[in-house]
Amino acid sequence: MKRIRCQECDGNYILRDGKFGVFAGCSNYPRCRSTKKLYEVVLEYIRIYGIGIYRWDRECWKCKKKTAVYSYYLDYELAELDEFFNSGLPAVGLGDLAYIDGLLSQKYATIQKRYSNTTHSSYMANTCSHCGALQGRNYVVEDPHEIVEELWHSRGMDKFWIETIACPDTSPLVSDIKRIYSQAP
Ligand SMILES: [Zn+2]
Ligand SMILES: [Zn+2]
Repeated sequence: MKRIRCQECDGNYILRDGKFGVFAGCSNYPRCRSTKKLYEVVLEYIRIYGIGIYRWDRECWKCKKKTAVYSYYLDYELAELDEFFNSGLPAVGLGDLAYIDGLLSQKYATIQKRYSNTTHSSYMANTCSHCGALQGRNYVVEDPHEIVEELWHSRGMDKFWIETIACPDTSPLVSDIKRIYSQAP
């Protein structure tokens, strides 16, 4: 069982919905009043457990050949830590964490920076290994979470796991994690 240990006692942090939004408090509350911000718990999780990378094959919408797509599903992994991560916290995948996206694009040639006319910005996305077409439901913005929605609910994604990227130094991730999890409900 994955846990984030309390820094002040033998408890672990669990998420609570407080007056000022979601925060992490010690499981031994009220005996222990240690708290952490949501984004700090996420960074701690990544420092300890790394970020899992998943791969699956899908049919390219354009050339109809099978091509591999990759992403991480940080919110899926965090859900193992605390059920609270299942309830409305942001989905985090390819395109959300610039540092991890950079590492993946160096490793997997089909992960490339593309420009979206819809969002008017550049982002990392999966492309077809045969024809180069962007792989996504709307063919414009890649949202890997749409593709695996069913697997998500059945917790059946483990068979698509290919590696975990270790991240003992989370400093390159701080700004993205802070941005994503400070806006969380
Ligand atoms: Zn504690
Ligand atoms: Zn193709």
